[in-house]
Amino acid sequence: MKYYAPKGLNDILPEEIPYWHAVEQQVRSIMSVYNYREIRTPIMEKTEVFARGVGEETDVVSKEMYTFDDKGGRSMTLRPENTASVVRAFLEHKVYGKEELSKWYYLGPMFRYESPQKGRSRQFHQYGAEAIGSDDPALDAELIALSVDLLKSLGLEDIGLTINSIGCPSDRENYLEELAEYLEPREDKLCVDCQTRLKTNPLRILDCKNETCQKVVQGGPIITDYLCSECRSHFDRVKSYLDEFDLEYNINPNLVRGLDYYTKTVYEVFSSDLGAQDALVGGGRYDELVELFGGDPTPAVGFAGGIERLVLLLQQLNESKYSPEGLDLYLATIDEQAKRIAVSLQRELRELNITTELDYLDKSLQGQLGYADRYDATYTAILGPREVEQNELTLRDMVTGEQVNVSLDNYKSEIKDRLDG
Ligand code: AMP
Repeated sequence: MKYYAPKGLNDILPEEIPYWHAVEQQVRSIMSVYNYREIRTPIMEKTEVFARGVGEETDVVSKEMYTFDDKGGRSMTLRPENTASVVRAFLEHKVYGKEELSKWYYLGPMFRYESPQKGRSRQFHQYGAEAIGSDDPALDAELIALSVDLLKSLGLEDIGLTINSIGCPSDRENYLEELAEYLEPREDKLCVDCQTRLKTNPLRILDCKNETCQKVVQGGPIITDYLCSECRSHFDRVKSYLDEFDLEYNINPNLVRGLDYYTKTVYEVFSSDLGAQDALVGGGRYDELVELFGGDPTPAVGFAGGIERLVLLLQQLNESKYSPEGLDLYLATIDEQAKRIAVSLQRELRELNITTELDYLDKSLQGQLGYADRYDATYTAILGPREVEQNELTLRDMVTGEQVNVSLDNYKSEIKDRLDG
């Protein structure tokens, strides 16, 4: 064995694919019910899209990006998230001139140079939605409800929802002053990372996982006490819509999220069945980002959810609906003449969307029946010298073991009727 996949970049083998398909199909179906349309952006962008969009001081930009120079000497970055690219595309294609509200969703791989562990990898997959063009709190509530509904529709029950409001930039400025005043005399009690954050990005100290940092923060000022009347009323209306939807939530004034672009509403959906990496979905409002990218001031709100963690949870549920689909029919042949007939029958059956397989490994009839079982075939058609002679096939029901002779003149309708029945 000479080659391994790079650390933190995982293969998804065929046996795991049914979980991925289930998630992807459910994402597409719920997004369509909520009237979000798919957008696909490139997997890499010019580095400044993320540096500006996500924020230079964030962990994602300062430590975790896969950045390299292309052959033309331009700095390129594999996307660590998709919101910045979506906003770039929104402006590049002047979508603001064509529609007042854009409701978009995406699905795809993202890349962050993090330490891999259960539920955290360097290439991971996100689904997400962005609604650009409205500051209506009902839209924040719609996206929160969508995030939760999607997880529930996949059968997850133990999920929690935490919300907060981090206000507008001027609220945050006032708050950050007070926070710094409170934290600076306590700097020596903070972890090394938070001592740096105190200078670069003090808001992130609030959600540091380190226990002593959490203790320090608990006695400090609370951001929701610093909201202006507009931000406060926005937050109250988000909460009242969530109440309207009967969605349970906790308010955590220390929830701030890792990316710089958030304003007002922020939220996370998590599962207590996941262990340390328990966040399934994170999102919020980002009313300043379009303007930061050179557009007119345009309010927006969105979220992203991680597919790997969702698949881990679905695997724990261990439901049979995630088994690969069985074959309709295995074509077992005994000699070359039968095989010649079988390949052309197979071609005709495929036109009817009947899933079939035959032997490419020169197996005995017994061996081929073994494969029919392994592929979970509903029927096996056996073709040997006797069948060729009589212009028929022997059709074996793989559950009951019952066998009947079926003429090659009407085998298609015989097989189709049995499968449909
Ligand atoms: P974020 O873009 O950081 O807000 O993350 C949104 C969601 O993406 C998280 O709640 C996770 O479910 C997922 N996620 C983020 N980073 C990773 C990672 N390195 N590996 C796996 N999933 C991740």
